[in-house]
Amino acid sequence: MAARCAALSCCCSASAWVFAVGALIFLHGLSSGACSICKHRVPGPDEIIYKVHLSPNHVFKRNVNQQLRVKTIYDTSVENLLPEKRKLVKNKLFPQAVSYLQKTFQVRKPSGTILLSRQCASDQYLRKRGDPRRYCSGACAQYTRCGPVIVPEEHLQQCMICSADGWHCGSVGIPDREGVEDADFVLYVSALSTERCGQENIVAYAAYCQLEAKMDRPIAGYANLCPNMISTQAQEFVGMLSTVKHEILHALGFSAGLFAFYYDDNGNPWTTRHATGLPSFNPSLGLYQWSNKVVRKAARLWDVRGNQILQHDVFLLVTPRVVEEARKHFNCPVLEGMELENQGGLGTELNHWEKRLLENEAMTGSHTQNRVFSRITLALMEDTGWYRANYSMAEKLDWGRNKGCDFATKSCKFWIAQQRKRQEIVRPYCDTLRSNPLQLMCREDQRAVAVCNLQKFPNRLPHEYQYFDHLNGISTEELPYYGGAIEIADFCPFSQEFSWHLSGKYQRGSDCRVPENQPDPSRNYAAETYGPNSVCLIQKSAFTMEQCTKKLTYPDWGSGCYQIFCSSQGLKVWFKDTTYLCSRAGQILAINIEMNNWVYTGNLICPACLDFCESCPPEHDPPPINKTRIRPIDICSRSSSLVVTLWLLLINLLPLLLGFLLCAHN
Ligand SMILES: [Zn+2]
Repeated sequence: MAARCAALSCCCSASAWVFAVGALIFLHGLSSGACSICKHRVPGPDEIIYKVHLSPNHVFKRNVNQQLRVKTIYDTSVENLLPEKRKLVKNKLFPQAVSYLQKTFQVRKPSGTILLSRQCASDQYLRKRGDPRRYCSGACAQYTRCGPVIVPEEHLQQCMICSADGWHCGSVGIPDREGVEDADFVLYVSALSTERCGQENIVAYAAYCQLEAKMDRPIAGYANLCPNMISTQAQEFVGMLSTVKHEILHALGFSAGLFAFYYDDNGNPWTTRHATGLPSFNPSLGLYQWSNKVVRKAARLWDVRGNQILQHDVFLLVTPRVVEEARKHFNCPVLEGMELENQGGLGTELNHWEKRLLENEAMTGSHTQNRVFSRITLALMEDTGWYRANYSMAEKLDWGRNKGCDFATKSCKFWIAQQRKRQEIVRPYCDTLRSNPLQLMCREDQRAVAVCNLQKFPNRLPHEYQYFDHLNGISTEELPYYGGAIEIADFCPFSQEFSWHLSGKYQRGSDCRVPENQPDPSRNYAAETYGPNSVCLIQKSAFTMEQCTKKLTYPDWGSGCYQIFCSSQGLKVWFKDTTYLCSRAGQILAINIEMNNWVYTGNLICPACLDFCESCPPEHDPPPINKTRIRPIDICSRSSSLVVTLWLLLINLLPLLLGFLLCAHN
């Protein structure tokens, strides 16, 4: 029996289809996918030490290149990992993540030496007027922790205590130690199998634990990796790396727990402070309450199924640089701010960008594909008041770019309907059901083969996320069950890259730029080439591959990866020894080439030259020679070839949508 399955391995709403040859067997069930959304659990006020006084009289070396200085301290639990995992964490993951962040940010007011405050044995502490130090009532705790990590003694200030009546205060124990020199932030990295690792099936989580006194900037934080979830598989490295960067950004400032502590450019807090120096605490949110100069509520008019319009409430981050960058990104000059995530529960909502609007931005709440750190995230880090950002380190975000105010403020139902009315493709959304055979398409940035994640859910979706008035082959009663697979993207359907699995084992991914994704010559059904210069092109028809006695065609088609290069004549598609010139976008290239002893025939649609090339000649109609290019290659004298559709080769080959198990949580 030949079985094929398209399954989601991402959060909470995974379903699997299994098909068999001939008769369609439809199994609907849950895949083994773990929840992949990020839960940045904002530390409770009792887990944080605020207003840590950093002594100004420590001489500190001039920070010549002005980069943010993160000092990574590995806990013994990292040393105890299996050697392969330890090497990965210590030699690759953290050094690379920290190096990126150091190059991207600088601290406005660098610190000299960081000497952390001690936790108290009870949660009672005192402050004396005119004295920046924090006194424990009774005794200091035996250990001071930063998240799950015990802070080394040499990083701690001397223990300061007051008697129970508060009258007698003084220092006890070892005097101030050397602290961490020439650092702006101390990052404690651990690999502990904590309760959270077990409960939430997560890869990593991170947060801050101490904030300095002058600007409330985090000066210490932790990142815990769940040992069982560290993968040493090469194909998972990029995802893990962006997860680690994502986590450290939560610890450095991107956190709902810190919104109330942000400063404006003049060094004044956005949010009013009490005599304690702290803002008001909002017990129902479990967070310090921010000013509406930082985050504001807004109501959107939200089109849903049945021509209804509902009110959809959103939270917007409204600090100046974020507003400016969001307006530029969407090309919407009246946008009031950048929407924050409204779903996924505590930890996901408010702590990330709205996934519907910035899908593959790395600070959205889950990892679907191709994460990038965009200018909008860098702008937020600047708007904390603590950092300057080097925007040359920002990565290009294609999702939503120049899509206008309707895209940035309306539901995807509205967008899809409007695009259809204009007879334009519904990009970046999609509205094709995953069916047998699969209709392949391209990821929004045209760098990977993808499929539309529109699927049926076991239950009706909430009314505000029901977007379809009709879908081919689906009855009206069933429409409320259909939506995009990613809940935190407001169930809007979009194309997602995937990976091929054989008997449950990873074979290859669908990212065009990764040479390892190149299919075996005998399975390269559409003459694809994967590598750094490859992009995803739409196929106008299915490819055939032919030898003297065999002619094969693959049932799943629609797009593939092809090598391109930019020339003075325009964009060219390049096969082993043949090039095809694209004179204008939408032109159909009739491909007829020989590769690896197979003759391939098929049609590709030209992309827009400017999508990939810096400079392009004006578009024009292709010369007639291109239109009549096909001069069939003679494979052998007799051509009574048998056409086989490759159903039988599909045994156990499973395309899995990538819903990364690695997303960092917290
Ligand atoms: Zn997160």
